[in-house]
Amino acid sequence: MSKASEREPLWRRLDAEQNSREAFRLALEYGGEYLETARHRRVFPDQGALAALAAFDEPLPEQATPAAAVIERLHQLGSPATSAQGGGRYFGFVNGGLLPAALGARLLADVWDQNAALEVMSPVAATLEAVCERWLVELLKLPAGSAAGLVSGTSAATLCGLLAGRNTLLRRLGWDVAAQGLFGAPQLRAVLSEGAHVTVLKTLAILGIGAAQIETVPADAQGRLDASRLPPLDDRTLLVLQAGNVNSGAFDPFRPLCAAARQAGAWAHIDGAFGLWARGCESTAHLAAGIELADSWSADAHKTLNSPYDCGIILCRDRGALVSALQASDSYLHVGTGRDGMLYTPDMSRRARGVDLWAALKSLGRDGVDQLVAQLCRRARQFAEELSAHDFRVLNEVVFNQALIACDSPELTERTLALLQASGECWCGGSNWRGEPVIRISVCSWTTTTEDVRRAVAAFVAARARSASGC
Ligand SMILES: *Cc1c(COP(=O)(O)O)cnc(C)c1O
Repeated sequence: MSKASEREPLWRRLDAEQNSREAFRLALEYGGEYLETARHRRVFPDQGALAALAAFDEPLPEQATPAAAVIERLHQLGSPATSAQGGGRYFGFVNGGLLPAALGARLLADVWDQNAALEVMSPVAATLEAVCERWLVELLKLPAGSAAGLVSGTSAATLCGLLAGRNTLLRRLGWDVAAQGLFGAPQLRAVLSEGAHVTVLKTLAILGIGAAQIETVPADAQGRLDASRLPPLDDRTLLVLQAGNVNSGAFDPFRPLCAAARQAGAWAHIDGAFGLWARGCESTAHLAAGIELADSWSADAHKTLNSPYDCGIILCRDRGALVSALQASDSYLHVGTGRDGMLYTPDMSRRARGVDLWAALKSLGRDGVDQLVAQLCRRARQFAEELSAHDFRVLNEVVFNQALIACDSPELTERTLALLQASGECWCGGSNWRGEPVIRISVCSWTTTTEDVRRAVAAFVAARARSASGC
């Protein structure tokens, strides 16, 4: 190895052999190729592509590699080992597709490499974030003046919402967390449905609210919190509700629950990771009626809205409560006059999520959001109807984009799911619903056509036939 003093300076090497424009050109070329084949590729990688990933596991390179070669290797090994989420037949988890305008905006924003922490760091990021806040509050019909923070996902958004709630409840009880800390603070509790998403429990644990302070309310057969079983609420309660059960897609009955929270002085937060978008669609808005009575809401743009990862949103009725909780002080009024995005999130340096979120909303418009959500729901219903016609059991009311499917026996369901996943024709995850294994369908991409659903149904039928014949 040559001595440091004899080596060419790094900046010159990067400028010459690792020409960033060449790397970008290659990435665009490979990306374009990927997009063109996305609809036709296997939905989950085959064994060969998975085995080839082992080639990444090399010793830490001693020497530099030209940028173009890095991108080339990534494409060769990486692209075949992706899940084809954008292809129209990926129905796993609630992993959304990708809108063309949002993808383009993301690429451009990545080239800009802006830091969205402060307005003075990136005026364009700050402007677009403020526009997104205004549009989201309007689209989702939330109380005027509600604040929005752009975070990595709903996990982080729920953390921010419940943090604002925790500190607000404690402040009203005469306890200032920023000044006094948590030890010795009045006890709070959380009330949530037995169907609450696992990330809510994780979030509560981070906030110092453990299992002993959590009261779980039974849910009905669809996974909706049973309002008749709600314990009395008080001003020491964080009530966590759900717009979109992660299995069934069901929505809690918000109006009576939020009204009860308000009356008791409790803080109501709504986990609307994928379901909050029901508010932006005429045919599904009724599902989320009453959520405007809550105090905070979390949602993912990377799910139903089909924005790129990662884009979670925390919305909070009381701007000061959110900002002061994240600042651990009330100094927010003095920080800046414009939009300083870091005030609304736990992070300081952040990518400019507002750019691709803005592009998604701009390209769809109110009408496009309405159509997108309605289409996802229609395809989910088509799925359920066609599977039902083929004697699969549909275990939930398909009210949104989720359907839960079972065969005649738990063993047959499990074998069918395994063969379905291996088929490469479509991809669904498994779950457990009311004590029974299920195949879980989430229609979450704008690219899914009626033909995609038909083809996926044929794959279900073929997988079950092979399972039943003992293959
Ligand atoms: C996806 C999801 C979450 C977690 O969101 P992330 O963006 O993955 O952090 C929380 N709640 C529900 C209902 C979800 O569907």
